[in-house]
Amino acid sequence: MNLIAGVERQLDTLAVQSLTRRRRTADSPCAPRQVVDGRSMLAFCSNDYLGLAAHPRVIAALHEGADLYGAGSGAAHLVSGHSRAHAQLEERLAAMQAPHLADARALYFCTGYMANLAALTALGSSPDATIFSEALNHASLIDGARLAKAGVTVYPHGDVAALETKLLESGAGTKIVVTDSVFSMDGDLAPLPALLALCERHGAWLVVDDAHGFGVLGANGRGALEHFALRSPNLVYVGTLGKAAGVGGAFIAAHASVIELMIQRARPYIYTTASPPALAHALLASLDIIEGAEGMERRAHLNRLISLLDDELKLKRWQRLPSRTAIQPIVIGANDEALRAASRLHEQGLWVPAIRPPTVAPGTARLRVTLSAAHTQDEVAQLAAALNHLETQQLERTAA
Ligand SMILES: *Cc1c(COP(=O)(O)O)cnc(C)c1O
Repeated sequence: MNLIAGVERQLDTLAVQSLTRRRRTADSPCAPRQVVDGRSMLAFCSNDYLGLAAHPRVIAALHEGADLYGAGSGAAHLVSGHSRAHAQLEERLAAMQAPHLADARALYFCTGYMANLAALTALGSSPDATIFSEALNHASLIDGARLAKAGVTVYPHGDVAALETKLLESGAGTKIVVTDSVFSMDGDLAPLPALLALCERHGAWLVVDDAHGFGVLGANGRGALEHFALRSPNLVYVGTLGKAAGVGGAFIAAHASVIELMIQRARPYIYTTASPPALAHALLASLDIIEGAEGMERRAHLNRLISLLDDELKLKRWQRLPSRTAIQPIVIGANDEALRAASRLHEQGLWVPAIRPPTVAPGTARLRVTLSAAHTQDEVAQLAAALNHLETQQLERTAA
């Protein structure tokens, strides 16, 4: 009984700090109008930025993939689980990033979490290496750095000068700078051109986690490297395929030799069952959409919605962050106040998640609004009106 009591004490501690998380259960596909716990909601919380998760062509390709390749892969990639669909997907992804890399090759992973663990453990496999990690990096990069044998140092958010000082002072044999491209809880962009110039001067790798950029950034949706028109052999690109691409999994694109090293050495690649080939087959359809005219139209619509939200929100105390991406956080501050705001919105049929520590820094609990090309202008205007009204109500309550 003592063991259970110890666990329950930990849960109580979370509850007292308003840090308990709970799941809601969706009864319908990921879309702006979603049935959640039996109730119809207007959702602003997914990372399905282009609305491809329930796109008829992607769903049809998933069916077709199951007919062609069955339900499961049966084994790890290096045993017998590597299918033609995986190979085709990797070729396609490599071609997409080829303008930005030297001798590009791509490797498909089950999840972005695993791709990040793989990138950092494979590149940072020696105690003689140092990983320079941006302060607001995603948890999977933090865990990858912890798991690597390399030393780790954290540089302040967006601070290229501070990073340069650290690089100058470092005697590491291998230097690895790692950053999100679009910060997942703030929505701002890393200064990638300045970071790459610095990495080239110091002979460092630049690992870019483009989880929120792939499919969305760049004229052709190829992501952050296309957006900033970067090209370098120092780049190691991680794109995820469960967000804008609407399916699941992730990939690393880099010089062919780097990818070969991952295949030989990266444990999160080697020691796990290959994901169902049907997913890779479905992803070929979603890449067709991303790179085609429809993807361009979806990105243009998404950008109109981002501008619309910006125009319509009139907040006084709650803080907007300077984001031009689909991630539009509203910083409220206290955990309980952010939770209260989320539950008021929920009562009105609006689903916006409250994000609390440790995902964000203490005192910066926030509503994380995410927009999708599947939203309409009316839906975004409805959200903005609800947020404006809610803030006014809370200001009045504080004043009373
Ligand atoms: C979502 C996310 C990941 C993890 O990707 P999954 O495919 O969901 O495991 C990695 N990095 C960032 C910045 C993310 O937002």
